Amino acid sequence: MMFNGIKKDFPIFDREVNGKRLVYLDSASTSQKPRSVIDAEKAFYERMNANVHRGIHALSQEATAAYEGVREKVRAFIGAREAGEIVFTRGTTESINLVASTWGEQNISEGDEIVVSALEHHSNLVPWQQLCKRKKALLKVIPLLKNGLLNIDALGGLLGPRTKLVALTQMSNAIGTIVPIKKVVQIVRDAGGAAVGAGGGSARIKVLVDGAQSVAHAGFDLSEMPVDFLAFSSHKMLGPTGVGVLYVKREILETMPPYQFGGEMVKEVSQTDAKWNDLPWRFEAGTPNIAGVVGLGAALDYLHKLGFDAILKHDRELAGCAREKLSQFPGLVMYGPEDGGRAELMAGGIVSFNVPGVHPHDVGSILDNEGVAVRTGHHCAQPLMERLGCDATVRVSFYVYNDISDVDAAALALQKVYDIFNV
Ligand code: PLP
Repeated sequence: MMFNGIKKDFPIFDREVNGKRLVYLDSASTSQKPRSVIDAEKAFYERMNANVHRGIHALSQEATAAYEGVREKVRAFIGAREAGEIVFTRGTTESINLVASTWGEQNISEGDEIVVSALEHHSNLVPWQQLCKRKKALLKVIPLLKNGLLNIDALGGLLGPRTKLVALTQMSNAIGTIVPIKKVVQIVRDAGGAAVGAGGGSARIKVLVDGAQSVAHAGFDLSEMPVDFLAFSSHKMLGPTGVGVLYVKREILETMPPYQFGGEMVKEVSQTDAKWNDLPWRFEAGTPNIAGVVGLGAALDYLHKLGFDAILKHDRELAGCAREKLSQFPGLVMYGPEDGGRAELMAGGIVSFNVPGVHPHDVGSILDNEGVAVRTGHHCAQPLMERLGCDATVRVSFYVYNDISDVDAAALALQKVYDIFNV
């Protein structure tokens, strides 16, 4: 298995949970942090701490250079044309809300249509639901196929002259399904929403990608998937909590009204009016999470060293091993992509399942007793759970620091569930 030995880069694995080795299988919720990220944040506070963009003094200049340096790093990471297209937020949720309450308020009117999918996390559903309610617009949903994949072929039929936005997750946090965004962009283009491409002007139908899960495992390449909006979170990709990224194509960002008002987002203020700052600072009112952004920079460095091709392969391999192990437990139900045994090609490092007759929370507690951390519940995707015919699942999710010993430990702990409940 790749990445052997990297657990030692993550201080949290030095501790035990309930007297057992920590087996962390909840990275889809939030990832653990390597020493380099923790050190980068600590070093910022110890050596450089000052506010950004404000001071003439040395510390402020250093802090500004560090903060803006990470913006450039993020630009290069996703292949954006300019750093001005990268807005730092608190996380994916805020990134999507920013788009809904600025671009959405300005561009969605009565009778317009927004398309989401059956896989969405509440973060990429509720903001659009609320916008549609406010505007008397219509929310359409790309349906799920029986095999856990999205029915992308249905997308073309959902697009019409009033469609303004297609907002999709690239990887389901609940069942791992990967959505082919390149194909989605092509379908939207074919439907008349042309010129989605970088530098290609602004199209009628915009595409927003919720990359909260996918970007951590596969990176993102705007030249390959030229979407209009991309949202993702630092904390799911080894970085600190409280930092998110919103990419918006410049032609669109220029037309968007401010999200929040205050310091930093203004250029000039009189008693009765204000002029907005340049991009992207117009969308970063107030003091940002400077140390967190610096930590994200260190996380990107760490991930780049591993390489995103290798990361996705590693996570999928572990998920594949987990699926194989789980399939040996009698009656266990797995949710997620299936395609003649090629599930690994359609899913990221996530496996969602239920043990017959045992509530997922009970499974989670017994696993926790064994030091195995998993997520149980609806995974902030209640409409999806309803479609799958369950209220909740047990979810194991893998990331770079996991290895086969974690799969084995989870399987041993699951055997305890079977023994205790006499399944
Ligand atoms: N979208 C997806 C697919 C997610 O998995 C998550 C987090 O679990 C979010 C959005 C929300 O991200 P955050 O809580 O970092 O804002």
